[in-house]
Formats: sequence, C-alpha cells, structure tokens
Amino acid sequence: MPARKLSEIGEFGLIGRIRDLFPAPEGVEGIGDDCAVLPQHSGRDTLVSTDLLIEGTHFLREDIPPYRLGWKSAAVNISDIAAMGGKPVATFLSVALPADLDASWMDEFLRGYADISGRFGVALLGGDTTASPDRICINVAVLGECPSGTARLRSHAQAGDRICVTGPLGDSAAGLKAILGGVERDADVQALIDRHYLPLPRVAEGLQLAATPGVHAMMDISDGIGSDLGHILEASGCGARIDVAALPLSPALQRVCARQGWDAAALAIGGGEDYELLFTCTPEAEKALAVPHTVIGTITAGTAIEWLGAGRSFHGFDHFR
Ligand code: ADP
Ligand code: MG
Repeated sequence: MPARKLSEIGEFGLIGRIRDLFPAPEGVEGIGDDCAVLPQHSGRDTLVSTDLLIEGTHFLREDIPPYRLGWKSAAVNISDIAAMGGKPVATFLSVALPADLDASWMDEFLRGYADISGRFGVALLGGDTTASPDRICINVAVLGECPSGTARLRSHAQAGDRICVTGPLGDSAAGLKAILGGVERDADVQALIDRHYLPLPRVAEGLQLAATPGVHAMMDISDGIGSDLGHILEASGCGARIDVAALPLSPALQRVCARQGWDAAALAIGGGEDYELLFTCTPEAEKALAVPHTVIGTITAGTAIEWLGAGRSFHGFDHFR
C-alpha cells in the first residue's frame, strides 16, 4: 500500500482503523461513542471517556488564564458523561509540564479544575505528572455511571425523529476566532470568549433526557454539528434535514457577526466546542420535553445531511485536515 499521510486519512479515518483492530468485547460499547459503556453486576453501567488538551492545538498559553484552562479540562470530559445521559463520578488528571513553568500557574489551573469538579460533585482520584520539553499537555480521564441500558448512544436515531440542541451554537467558535484575530474585546466579544473558555457541561439536562422515553440518540457538540450530526447519522444509518434558519444563535453572536462580517451559520455548524447536547427524539416526546431545547431538523431515511436554506453543505472540525 502506498504511504499515506494522516491528513489524507483524517482524524476519523484513523479512529476507524483503530476500531477495526480492537473490536469491543460482547456487551460492551467501545470506540465510537462519547464514552465507552461497561456493564457492571450491580444493575448499573460504568461510563468512561478521555480527552487531551495540547498547548498550541487546543489553547494558547499566552491567552488562556490557567484557572480557565483547569475549568475547561475537566468540563470537556464531564460533558462526555452528560452526552450519554450519565452522572459524572470521578476524574484522573495527567499533566506534562515544562520545568520552568511557575508553580502559581498550576495552583490556578487546579483552582479552576476544583471549582467545576465541585459543582458537579466529581472527585479527582489520580493521574500522572511528568516533564515536557516545551508544551503543556493535559489529559483527563472521566468515569460516570447510569442505570443499566439507559445510556443514550449515537446509534439510536430513528427516521422521523426531531433533531434538537440544548442551547445556542457558534459562540465558542466565534470566541476562538476573536482570540486568534485579535478582535477588540467589548462585552459581546468577551461573552463569546467566556463561552469558549468556560463551557458548562449539560449534566442535569443529559440526566433528564436519558430518563425520558422517546429520547433516542444523544451526543455533545465538540466538533460542530456539521461533523457531530454526521457521527449520529453514520452510527444510526440515517440521514437528516436541517433548517439552517432554526439554528439557535445568541444575540451576542449575531451582533459580533454583523459587525465583523462573519458568517454566523457557518460558525454554528462548522465551529466546535459548544458542549451543548445534540439529541434526537420522537415528535411526541419533543412536545412533552421539560428540558429547554430548540428543534433544528428531522432525521430522514436517507444517508446525507440536507441543509435547508443554506445553498451549500458544511463540515465540522477534523484534527488532521
Ligand atoms: P469526543 O469528541 O466525544 O471526545 P472523539 O471524536 O474524540 O469523541 O472520538 C470518537 C471515538 O473514538 C470515541 O469513542 C473515542 O473514545 C474514540 N477514540 C478517539 N481516539 C482514539 C484512540 N487513539 N484510541 C482509541 N479510541 C479512540
Ligand atoms: Mg463527545
């Protein structure tokens, strides 16, 4: 086989290769969802996930205050438990740090990590610490739980389901664009940057949705719905019709996009790290839902995403492309 670069295979092509080599044991959900799901003897399932944050790829040390990085490192992992409809229980924190880093940087990092962990009652139970030649690297593993068989998988969408999100899309991507572009930080821009640096995992919403019959597939939005909805469709063997005009956009995003000439729909669809929940449910379940949400489209019997009102297609984030 000719040598191929990762940029040709793509992030998800590589994950597919790993998955082909390591099929999950019987009864276990392995690679492919927000968390692995391991059945326990006690009538509960254990949920496990892990996420990396690399300086220069996921954050700029000169811009993000360490408190916010600590918060975000725990938040994005807790969000993967929320995405399954589970209760987060514990994390493990591994760090690779340059030796000349100020100790106070780490104190602040841990304060942010502790604040969000405390907010969701999540214990820190271990990890690993090592030196890094220059960049800060952070890995968090998270454990959660749910009653047996109640985890909401990406593969559960059904034709006719409503497609819903729990909150506004695109704020985080616009915040990142403002940081990278050196945009002046008025109150609106700061609000978008706050959404980028201080995501709030939708744990209570996820638990409520998982307890609702008729709620089918669920995941959290980390790469943008252009990519993330694609994962639900691929896993479920369905298509989707999205009403671009129905995408929830915050007033701050709309104002900043109008001022900067940015395409709000492209940020909402192709930009990641909103950490809202994306879920599908029957029309009857949707009408009765107590969780605040916006309907953005319908699952179809096809295989592709139709973007109504856009005149083009959209893609989410891929680390190698
Ligand atoms: P998320 O955005 O929810 O963190 P990802 O898109 O990063 O999920 O990963 C998709 C799936 O692939 C997950 O089930 C994850 O556990 C798995 N995965 C990603 N990278 C690897 C890897 N290097 N080895 C094994 N599984 C992986
Ligand atoms: Mg996820």
